[in-house]
This record gives sequence, structure tokens and C-alpha cells, in this order.
Amino acid sequence: MDPEEFRREAHRVADWIADYLSNPGQYPVLSRVSPGDITRALPPDAPAHGESFDRILSDFQQVILPGITHWNHPGFFAYFAITGSAPGILAEFLSAALNVQAMLWRTSPAATELEEVTLAWLRRLVHLPDAFEGVIYDTASISTLHALAAARERAAPDVRVHGLGARRFRVYCSDQTHSSIDKAVILLGLGHESLRKIPTDAQFSMRPDALVSAIADDRADGWSPLAVVATVGTTSSTSVDPVEEIAAISAREDIWLHVDAAYAGVAAMVPGYEHVLRGAGAADSIVLNPHKWLFTPFDLSVLYTRHFDVLRAAFSLTPEYLKTAETGVARNLMDTGVQLGRRFRALKLWMVCRHFGADGLRARLAEHMRLARLFADWVDQSSGFERMAPVPFSVVCFRAIPPDLLGNETALDAFNEELIDKVNRSGEVFLSHTRLDGRYVIRLAVGNLHTTEVHVARAWALLNSAS
Ligand SMILES: *Cc1c(COP(=O)(O)O)cnc(C)c1O
Repeated sequence: MDPEEFRREAHRVADWIADYLSNPGQYPVLSRVSPGDITRALPPDAPAHGESFDRILSDFQQVILPGITHWNHPGFFAYFAITGSAPGILAEFLSAALNVQAMLWRTSPAATELEEVTLAWLRRLVHLPDAFEGVIYDTASISTLHALAAARERAAPDVRVHGLGARRFRVYCSDQTHSSIDKAVILLGLGHESLRKIPTDAQFSMRPDALVSAIADDRADGWSPLAVVATVGTTSSTSVDPVEEIAAISAREDIWLHVDAAYAGVAAMVPGYEHVLRGAGAADSIVLNPHKWLFTPFDLSVLYTRHFDVLRAAFSLTPEYLKTAETGVARNLMDTGVQLGRRFRALKLWMVCRHFGADGLRARLAEHMRLARLFADWVDQSSGFERMAPVPFSVVCFRAIPPDLLGNETALDAFNEELIDKVNRSGEVFLSHTRLDGRYVIRLAVGNLHTTEVHVARAWALLNSAS
């Protein structure tokens, strides 16, 4: 593609994106295709000869777009709603154009140093101590995997050379913890049975007394406690574990404390919400996901740790052809993880922080929490619905309770499952579910920049007319 054709097509793509972002609500939020539809619309072989960009773009619109679920849609309330804001999208343009591979400082000094600077900004915004150094990975799952690898490195550095042998490590988390912790222990070779899930209280928060007795039992049975994972904002109900108490237990027991604040940690920047990360300052590592609730295009997750040296010790391995004069002076990102190559992700977080400013970020997070509380009030005042969990952030867990089904949990589950389906079929909103205490629960997650009170009210109206 010559530069003039690129210029022309880039303008067309920019126009398309601007039109799209001006009204993502014109599409059904949840894609209506069936499994296999997209595959069948595409040829089995790559084209033998190059095609015009015009044709390619036309197929993007005709074939690909119908198979898109619109995360930009203001009625997207499923899972954790996210926004890849405009400044972040522009940063992705530039990052793709530069095509930097930031494995070493010298393979693009700015990529390495901008990452350090921007993560220090974020750390200060959420009031974490300066002792935490940050590194960017793609997702929280990978951040947590690296945190637990560092925990293993600190507890038993010889494992790196000799493997686990007969050692039996234990990792603790609550029964509400994200499945990425399960995957991390599986991948680290600790074995799935090394993960012990601690029961939670009525608010879905980890019970510190149960943690203490689990650790004592395990020590008596020959297990070596390795790490505790506390969550700030669990995936089902956004509950918060008592991090301060868990930190005291971890310190006493000399166990690595990892805090999974992938979704809710950023709320600590909002005035009045500083308590969200209380106790996390004493953790060994903590994960925050700017791609989740900080308007940064997917993907960008941040791992902070006080033990950067341990993280490096767990992973660094420098073959001759990657040795450089800067080793020891500047950070080489390949030393802090499994992957060698890295995208230039810091650019988008930097542009997002600069575009919104701290006050802009805080105001939008606060607005999302206001909308969630408003919706929770409607649920609380309605006799047809009930709330199923506290609302500490921007997610509401609730269910419909038609009077004729009261007391019949199986029927209530089925009714709510059908209700979500009906409402989602409207194309105007997309809600997802979870189970709490065994019950089928509807979740409304606010997190999209385009979502306003009008859209939350529309979700409420659809739920009421369908139930
Ligand atoms: C979303 C989430 C994760 C997983 O995030 P990815 O970046 O998709 O891996 C982990 N933990 C919590 C608490 C989450 O909310």
C-alpha cells in the first residue's frame, strides 16, 4: 500500500470509526448471529491474489460487523462494561504504526520509560506507596500468574532450577475469587489442589478467621503456605475482602499477599473511596486493570509489586544475542515476564490520563457509581425485584421475585434466566448473570462512557415490562 493510498484509506477508516462512536446504539448490542454464521460467510482459503482495500472494508461491514457484540453500546451492562475511549483508540493507531517491540530498553527507550512514568502516575492516583513498581501485561490473569510466580520464587528460589519435587504449596483465596487464580496455580505446576478456597460471610467477603484456621490446618498437614489472594471487587458481586486483616495475617505467617483489584482498584482515586485499597499498601503485589474501568482500550493490565527484584529473579534469562550495554542500568521488559516481545501499551494509558486528567477520570468513575446506586434504589423500592448483594461500586446484583413464585428457588432461577433472555433479545441492553448462594442473579454493570441515566432507566423499564 503506497503512502497516498494509506492516507486515503486511513481517512476513510477514521471517518468510519468517528461515525460508529457517535452512535454505537444504532446496532443491537448483543450480536444476533448463530454459531458458524461468520465462518460460513468466509471462504475456506486465503485469496490467491491481493484484493483492494475497498472490497476488504466492504466485507468488514457486511460480514464481520453483524458478528460483533457492541461493547461500545451504551446499553452494554453485562460482565464488566468497558470503554476504549477515543484518546486510547488514537494511541492504538500510533502504537500500531510504530510497531515497537519493547523487549529491551534499546529496542525503544520511550516504550520502557513511558511505562514506568505512567504507572507511577496511576500508583499515585490510587494512593499506593512509592515502594510499588509497576509493569504492564495484557490481562489480569497474566498479571496474577506473574505475581504468584514471584511468590514462589521468594518462598523457594531453588524451584526455578530443580522444579517442585515433593513440595506441597498452598495458595489461599475466597470462594468468590476469579478463576484466573485457579489457572495460575495449574500453570505454575502447583496443582489445582494447592488452591484452598476460604469461605465468605453474608457480604461475600473472605472470613479472616477461616483463613487463619486453614493455614494452621495446612501447616499441621505438611503443606507450605505460599500466597494469599485477596480481592477488591470480586467478579460476581464486586464484594471486597478485608484486606487490612488479611495483610496482618499474611505478614504474621510470612506469606505473599497478592491483591486482585482488577476491576475496582481504580475507584480508590475517587474522593471518598480512598478506603477501597486500605491495607493493599501492605501487600506484596496488586493488580489493576485500566482496560476494565479506566477507559483504556483492551488490553492493558498493571501489576504492582514491592519486590521487582524477585519478579525479575523469577523470569530473567538473557541469551547472548540479547545482552546489551544497558543491562543493569535501564529496565529491560523481557526480564519481567514470560514473553519476550511486548506491545507498546503504555502509550494508550498515557494518552487516556492526559486527555481526561485526574479530575476527568474521577468524575466519570463517580458518575458510574451514582448510576449503579440509582438503579439499586429502584430495585429496593420495587416489590417485583430484590437486591442480592451490596453495591460498593458500579455493579448491581438483583433478581425478579414474582409473588406466585416466592419460596420456589428453582422456579425463580428459571424465571430470571428467561427474563434476561427476553430483555437481551430487545437489542437495546445486554445483561449477564451470576450465581450467589446458589441463586441465579442478574447483574447490571455500569462502566461505559456513553451510558447515561437514560440508558439505565431504559434497562429498568425493559426488565419491568418483561417480568
Ligand atoms: C476481570 C477480572 C479478572 C480477569 O481479568 P482479565 O484481564 O480478563 O484477565 C481477574 N480478577 C478480577 C477480580 C476481575 O474482575
